[in-house]
Amino acid sequence: MYSTPSESLTDRFCRLDRQRFGAIENITDKDYYTNSYHYDVRKKVTPFQKLDFEKDYPFYASGGFIHYCEYPKMTHNLQALEAVWDYAYDRVGYLGTNAAIDRCFECGFEGEFNPTAAGFCCPDCGNTDPETCDVVKRTCGYLGNPMKRPMVHGRHEEIASRVNHI
Ligand SMILES: [Zn+2]
Repeated sequence: MYSTPSESLTDRFCRLDRQRFGAIENITDKDYYTNSYHYDVRKKVTPFQKLDFEKDYPFYASGGFIHYCEYPKMTHNLQALEAVWDYAYDRVGYLGTNAAIDRCFECGFEGEFNPTAAGFCCPDCGNTDPETCDVVKRTCGYLGNPMKRPMVHGRHEEIASRVNHI
């Protein structure tokens, strides 16, 4: 268990443990550790279930914390986001909203780019050129562009494993 803004440790600690203990199913075999008290990124839960699970843990993560939920493109249903924000307001101190806002300037696609072994690519035209697309992921507490500043392997695997909560 760890809790740190040093997000590369999600890769490093898992790699070191796999070298020492071998590939353990659902622990070291997935190439990343889940940081801190965050709900397993692979589990399909609602934003409300995720917040209820995580809300009591920031007290123990006194070095800093963030809650976040994953969404597909939500411009057609902003009321759903408002419902989550209203629910979170009296329960958690810091909430990130991870919505699909990737954009391809080659074909005009807007939404979620596909994760690949080489990075992210446009699901419509296959574009992987960082100069003609904008890919935005929450790599730690902050949003980053993994096409312009690539992540370590384990971090990429963790983001690729995330499921939407709506
Ligand atoms: Zn495209």
